Amino acid sequence: MKIIESITEMQKLSQEMRLKGQSIGFVPTMGFLHEGHLTLINNARKENDVVVVSIFVNPLQFGPNEDFGSYPRDIERDQKLAQNAGVDVLFNPSTDGMYRGTTMSASIQVKERVDVLCGKKREGHFDGVATVVSKLFNIVLPHRAYFGMKDAQQVAVIHGLIEDFNIPVQLVPIETIREEDGLAKSSRNVYLSSQERNEAPVLYKSLVRGKQAIEEGERDPEKIKSMIIENITSETTAKIDYVDIYSYPELKPLTVISGKVIIALAIKFTKARLIDNISFDV
Ligand code: AMP
Repeated sequence: MKIIESITEMQKLSQEMRLKGQSIGFVPTMGFLHEGHLTLINNARKENDVVVVSIFVNPLQFGPNEDFGSYPRDIERDQKLAQNAGVDVLFNPSTDGMYRGTTMSASIQVKERVDVLCGKKREGHFDGVATVVSKLFNIVLPHRAYFGMKDAQQVAVIHGLIEDFNIPVQLVPIETIREEDGLAKSSRNVYLSSQERNEAPVLYKSLVRGKQAIEEGERDPEKIKSMIIENITSETTAKIDYVDIYSYPELKPLTVISGKVIIALAIKFTKARLIDNISFDV
């Protein structure tokens, strides 16, 4: 496995691989790899000649009071995991390399699908995501890029970005990988206390109950939301950030639940903000 920190070196290698006719599968991450990331990598491995994984904790997508400084990092462990997963190139650029200091002369502003869910709570977050993903696409020049549905709003935003800017990359969404008890795997789960870790499976269980109620005929989004909120507040110490139901991937509000929908939630434990969602056809 090649480890590349230089942007020009990565771009040159990608150009060479393309000239040789090799297909490039790309998995962008912020590191501290877990089975969710490894599943994205496995899918990329199956469908491409070469797999490139990036590890970059992107300062642009963190708000001033968020966890950029304390985000878990362990590059040596990540290198081993990536190597064992059959990654060909690990791209690990520096912040200075990516942003040449702190200012950019142009930026991307996402206009749709961001006034809801995490976008409402994390101002500028998806502008930061869209900017870094665009830069990474231009450096890695992938044919396919793999993103997890754990971050379903991110998938929706990148979907829009690719369409709007005619980016020649195929977006491949991958289902959320979970612990045995249903908790979505996340680098931030290490922040949970043992009591919070015991409570955390309630998040997914309540999403599943919401889905079941819809399958049994309930069509009022407010009733489903109240049921989930009641579930979480009675069974955990978590503070609810949001519980919402929207159309997917448009993320438009619904008065009657129908079509392809997403139930998404974000909650705060003492040190960790966790998100989860479930999407399905009604
Ligand atoms: P992150 O390092 O958290 O930015 O995640 C990098 C990629 O891995 C994103 O596309 C995430 O959606 C995806 N990902 C993170 N956790 C999971 C999971 N539990 N299952 C599937 N994909 C995931």
